[in-house]
Formats: sequence, C-alpha cells, structure tokens
Amino acid sequence: MKKIIFALVLWLSMSIAYSQKSVFDNEDELYVKYKDKVEMIIKESEKDNTSYNKLAYLCDTYGNRLSGSEGLEKALGWIYQSMIKDNMENVQLDDVLVPNWKRGKESCELLFPRIAKIKMLALGNSLGTGPEGVTAEVYVVSSKEELQKNPEKAKGKIVLFNAVFKSYGETVQFRFSGAQWAAEAGAVASMIRSVSPHDMNSPHTGVMSYGESARKIPHIAITSEDADMLQRMQERGQKPVVKIYSEAHFLPDALSHNVMSEVVGYEKPDEVIVAGGHIDSWDIGTGAMDDGGGCVTTWEAVRIIKDLKLKPKRTIRVCNWTNEENGSAGGKAYAELHKKEKHIMGFEFDVGVFAPSHIRFSGDEKVFKKIKNFEKLLKLVDKNIVVAEGGGGADISHIVKQANIPAMSLSTGEESHYFWYHHSDTDTMDKISPSDMQKCVSAIAVTLYLYSEMD
Ligand SMILES: [Zn+2]
Repeated sequence: MKKIIFALVLWLSMSIAYSQKSVFDNEDELYVKYKDKVEMIIKESEKDNTSYNKLAYLCDTYGNRLSGSEGLEKALGWIYQSMIKDNMENVQLDDVLVPNWKRGKESCELLFPRIAKIKMLALGNSLGTGPEGVTAEVYVVSSKEELQKNPEKAKGKIVLFNAVFKSYGETVQFRFSGAQWAAEAGAVASMIRSVSPHDMNSPHTGVMSYGESARKIPHIAITSEDADMLQRMQERGQKPVVKIYSEAHFLPDALSHNVMSEVVGYEKPDEVIVAGGHIDSWDIGTGAMDDGGGCVTTWEAVRIIKDLKLKPKRTIRVCNWTNEENGSAGGKAYAELHKKEKHIMGFEFDVGVFAPSHIRFSGDEKVFKKIKNFEKLLKLVDKNIVVAEGGGGADISHIVKQANIPAMSLSTGEESHYFWYHHSDTDTMDKISPSDMQKCVSAIAVTLYLYSEMD
C-alpha cells in the first residue's frame, strides 16, 4: 500500500512539474511550435510596401508635427480614420494638453571678420532674443570645465560649446543644459555644435532646459562646419562677432491627442501589452525617422497580427503618443488615463528605421531567459537579430514605472546613422529602405505576438 501511495505521489508531483514546464523555456520547442505563424507574419509584412507607403503618405501630406501645430493634429486625425479603415479594434483618441513652443523667425549672422550667414536652429523651449537680437563676440569652449575655469572670458559674450559627438547621451548635455552653464558664467547667449556625428551643414535642434537658472538666455544650434570655423578664428586671435535673432516663444498649452487601437486578447483580454512610438516631431524635416517610422511600424505589426487572425492570448494595443520631443505629455497622460488597466509590458520603437538588430528587454531575469528563446524565431526575420538586455523608451517609461512592468524596444543596426538625420531638415522618407521597414514590422509583430502567448 505504502508503495502504491509513494508511486501516486511521485506521479502527481511529476505531472505538476511537467505542466509548469512551458515551451517558452526551450528555444527548440518554441521554434517548432511557432515557426509556421512567424513565417506567416514575415510573408504578410513582406508581400508589399504597405508600411512604407503609409509612412510616406503621413510625412508627405502632413509634414512635420511639432506639439501645438496643425500638422500634428491633422496627422492624428488621419491615423485615427486609417485605423478604423484597417478594422482595428477599440480605436481611440485621448485628449492631452501639450506645451506650445513656436520657433518664429530666426537668423544668425557672422559680422566679423567677414559678413556671412550662419545656419541656425533655436533649441526647443528656448526663449528668443527680443527685437534687437543679441550681438557679441563669440567665446568657444569644448567642455563645461573649460567654461567654468574661465568665467571672465564668457562674461558678456556668446558662448559656443564646440563639443565633438561622442555618443548621444554624452554629447546631448550641451544642448540640454548649455544655456544654464553659459548664463551662470555671465554670457548673453549660447550656441552648441549640433549633436550629430555627421551633420552635412544642416543644424540639429532638440529640447533644452533652463533648469533653475535665474537668467534665461537664448540657446541655439549651429552646424559642425560653422562651429569649427568659429573655433579656428578664435585660435588665430580673430575674435569673431555674431548676431543672433530669434522670435522663439511659448503660446498657451494646446490640445493634442494620443491615438490607439488594439487586437483584443482571446484568452485574457484584460491583460494589455502596449506598443508604439511618438507621432510628434520637431518643426523641420518631416519626422520620418523620428518617429513617424516607429508609429507606423508598430501599427502595422499589430494590424498584421489581427489580419492573420492569430488570436493572441492577451490584448495588444498600438499607441502613437504625442509630445515626446518637448514635454513627454503624451506618455504621462497615457499612464494616468489608463492606470486602472492591467498592463503587462510596454514596447517602444524610437531609434530610426534601419535593419533590425536587437530586441531589447528590461525586467525580471527569469522572464528575460524566456524572451532570449525568441531569438531563433526572430532570426527567420533577419539572421542578425539578437535578443539583449536594455529595453525602454521615453513614452513607455511612465506606464512602465507606474505599473512596474517590463520594458522592451527594437534597436536597429545602423543606429549611429540615425543621428545623421535626427532632429534636422534631413529627416525625410528617402533615408528609409522599404525592405528594412518590412523587417522592423516583422520583428515587432513576432515579439509582441510571442510575448502575448507566454504562460
Ligand atoms: Zn524620437
């Protein structure tokens, strides 16, 4: 009898252990189970240029999409109507109040040692110069330390931070905080060398902040070509003089929207994966890479899952967030308005549309091991795709923190080329390859679908 009971207990515990074991714990079993579905996704996204054509229509028709602009709201209206035409489920617009910064007219002129136009872009959220403009000698520095060691050289001058691009994270500090540092040293305005490894005589804008600064001086970007020229002039002792004119200012906050739609989960409709990019852009170029591409690829990924009738276990929602560039109001509003829903993961694509190279994950180590097993299936999309740690994005950061859920993102191999175009007039459709875009759609669709299927 004892033997029978022992055998029964052993059999029961083994069958419980077996039932807890999932195909997501074994890369080969997962591959066998989902290979056909992954191939269906790839076939569907690569059958034509639907994703590229959608993005081209968006960029060509509505142009760039700064928060508070007509272009942004018209683009949002078109996405809303197009998601309905796509038969997406629960198509929705959420109201979001966004900052309304206007560039106005602007110019920068070299007055000495010769008269010449200097290409410029006021940095986002900077204040203008007033009607007289600001005219002063330029003091060029390459670091914050150099400025702080020589405040007497900066007093009454226009400080130029001529810092060569190392990485975006390292170099962007001059754009973000440069005005504050220059004002503390007594400067009347500040300029930066554009934050780009290769700017082709086209300046790059981006958000800046005055922090707690008591004096708010105008802060602008010029090209690397002009920044180097001003530096050479200073080194020769030529004391270059520049005049900056900028009408940059804020209007009262404007009404904007996040737009979203879903494929509703088959088994657990209340559990939500949210994926997307940001629909706002700067007021130059057409925001094709940053981040129209992120918006359209995630939308297409979710549409394909729906059209193929893959019936994901959980709800997959695509959201195009507003106002990532100069306020993050869209991501914050999303977290607040959807706080009662059960989110299980946030996914963002905001690094430019190139061939997909990494699916990234931030979260529990045990979950990462399962995600790592997606890799063999993802290699059907592109053999170079690797699953790695370090997922995230500005728009999803708010919901990820609030709901304490994993963050995922897609990285693209030529990420460094992204910063050639980022926040400049050169961020346009012609930089995007339709076949790279199809692969991004496939990689995202495969990732979202597999995630929704996990135990
Ligand atoms: Zn972006």
